[in-house]
Amino acid sequence: MSTEQAPAGRAGSGTAAVHAGAPHPRAGEPVVQPLVASSTFFSDPVADAEVVYTRYGNNPNHLAVAAKLARLEGTESALVLASGMAAISMSLLAFAGAGDHIVATSELYGGTRTLLSRELPRLGIDTTFVETRRTWRAAIEARTRILYVEALSNPLLRLPDFPALAALARDRGIPLMVDATFVTPINLRPVELGADIVIHSGTKFLGGHSDLIAGSVAGPAAAVEEITMRMRSFGAALDPHATWLLERGLKTLELRVLRQNANALELAERLSTHAAVRTVYYPGLRSHPDHARAAELMRGFGGVLALVVEGGDEVALQFLRRLRLARVAPSLGGVETLVSMPRFTSHAALSVDERRALGIEPGLVRVSLGIEDVDDLWRDVSFALERHG
Ligand SMILES: *Cc1c(COP(=O)(O)O)cnc(C)c1O
Repeated sequence: MSTEQAPAGRAGSGTAAVHAGAPHPRAGEPVVQPLVASSTFFSDPVADAEVVYTRYGNNPNHLAVAAKLARLEGTESALVLASGMAAISMSLLAFAGAGDHIVATSELYGGTRTLLSRELPRLGIDTTFVETRRTWRAAIEARTRILYVEALSNPLLRLPDFPALAALARDRGIPLMVDATFVTPINLRPVELGADIVIHSGTKFLGGHSDLIAGSVAGPAAAVEEITMRMRSFGAALDPHATWLLERGLKTLELRVLRQNANALELAERLSTHAAVRTVYYPGLRSHPDHARAAELMRGFGGVLALVVEGGDEVALQFLRRLRLARVAPSLGGVETLVSMPRFTSHAALSVDERRALGIEPGLVRVSLGIEDVDDLWRDVSFALERHG
């Protein structure tokens, strides 16, 4: 990392997205950091310095992106890993072992729920799931090692009461881990609200172009070091090419996210007055249960919204099939608008009653806004919502 003295004052996130983690410019050097595909690096035969080896997560591309992410999140350190799930699993295993316990929100990404409810119990780690809006105090045991939440939740976009959760975590001396994939460091920095570890699926907004799989972790140096040890042992390092693409994507993170925020807010407002739409879930709308908190804690309300189409799943499917610009795919955070029905994707394994308990009503559609012109998106969506017999 460069040790050059910067002018006083911390760079804004637009500047950090472009410049943080880049080496100090020198005449003749490339403006774009080269992709270093080498798996191994020359070293002293009796190396006492740290060996550079790409599985160790210390190749120059890894270090550059990690430095950029640490700056964007406002943390001491950061790390990139092979996927969002690699970031989550290595972070959990860094803090919990056999006999330990985790308290996690019940409104979880499907992959994380599977990890916590099926994989970690095989290693002797149990989890108690609690709805984010309930008090977590009673679920905490002497053996609890991690409090785990998501901001915002999928697909109803609930925002945890971070100040309260952070106070509880501090009181019990347990780290608060946050999957902040849906908010990005542009809209919310969990560490500023008292969280300890921030995790992202870099596959989504950070990469932003639906062309890579990656994950990241940011937090205090000692914690990131522990997570790095797990990543090395379990072999979860990020491929240099994906790392390089992630850096390229990150440079436009702020631009993209601000546009996605604006598109989502505009579409949410228009959808909420449409006769074919029963409900719109978006934290930027006054009708959202966490609107006041989101308005207080977030810079923008994010690029994802959910709507409930009148008439249930069959009508929602017709809606999806009639879209021409917005396309059906399960991921999110890219420059293109993508729609999906959680009933068939993230929440497919649950029964109708289990889905209802989580607030996933028939007819629910998730929309991840891209950076297209909102009028074009509106024309597409409103046409697809019209009944055609
Ligand atoms: C996609 C996603 C993940 C998993 O990320 P991968 O990069 O697919 O492993 C985790 N959490 C959330 C909230 C996600 O959206």
